[in-house]
Amino acid sequence: MVRRCAAYRARQQVKTITSWNGPIMWNGIFDGKAYDELHIQLRSSVALTVFAVGRYLDAYYKDFLTSAEQHFMLGLPVTYYVFTDSPEKVPQIKLGPQRSLKVIKVKMYTRWQDISMMRMSMISDLIESEIASNFRYIFCFDVDQVFEARFGSEALGDSVALIHAGFYKAPKEEWSYDRNKKSTAFMETGDFYYHAAIFGGLCANVKNLTDACYLSIMEDKINDVEAVWHDESHLNKYFWLNKPSKLLPPEYCWNYGMGDKSNIKIVRLRWAPKHYDTLRTNV
Ligand code: UDP
Ligand code: MN
Repeated sequence: MVRRCAAYRARQQVKTITSWNGPIMWNGIFDGKAYDELHIQLRSSVALTVFAVGRYLDAYYKDFLTSAEQHFMLGLPVTYYVFTDSPEKVPQIKLGPQRSLKVIKVKMYTRWQDISMMRMSMISDLIESEIASNFRYIFCFDVDQVFEARFGSEALGDSVALIHAGFYKAPKEEWSYDRNKKSTAFMETGDFYYHAAIFGGLCANVKNLTDACYLSIMEDKINDVEAVWHDESHLNKYFWLNKPSKLLPPEYCWNYGMGDKSNIKIVRLRWAPKHYDTLRTNV
């Protein structure tokens, strides 16, 4: 399908394969068209979950969704699941063929940390009640980002993690794992520093991930600790213990404010500007 061995050498400056033989999907090492043909043949379908709670709905949702319609998994059946506390305020956006959208009402947690962390349990519940029986793959996204170029079927895999733009060049010692031994997310070392803004895979695998992260988050709550980067710390611990089968490089989630762009040949998705002071419930 994809001529892997030669293709892996197409990007000399970056690591294109993990120590456990998982591809890191840098631009140039894969043939997007071949992946599209394969997934159309396999009738792959994709559920995308995104949370837009409180002020994040107004601030980010429209750009996220409009750009997803231009770049996310074109050619495959996609259903968006939009979790929000204000379903009546979700703007209507015209969708392409084979694409649909469902709005799910959720309660508003007062702490933004809980809004972020509790996504794990809500995604898990929805996989069980609806997604697993209707889709092969699920992808879970932060809403504060905008698609700029193809984010296609090459990103599909059994278990998919994203390398964080802020750490992919930094030495290991600087990766911001949770160093608090009292937290279940505690890690001494790891393979990569992953970004919780995007993760995905086969429904059963993402169900396992969200359940494990949620249980760890709740165990920490009982012990009155909170991991330094919330759900992201737990996600990093999970992917250390359960290696992802495929990694997405920061080309799939770039922050233009990060400086050195030399390895970024294409920006498929970018961070939207953060306005924590005005958007978050408590800062
Ligand atoms: N979120 C939300 N409303 C909030 C806080 C968070 O909808 O008040 C959701 C939203 O999808 C957001 C995600 O949780 O993208 C993670 O939060 P945020 O993007 O602020 O975290 P960061 O990217 O800064 O780590
Ligand atoms: Mn975010």
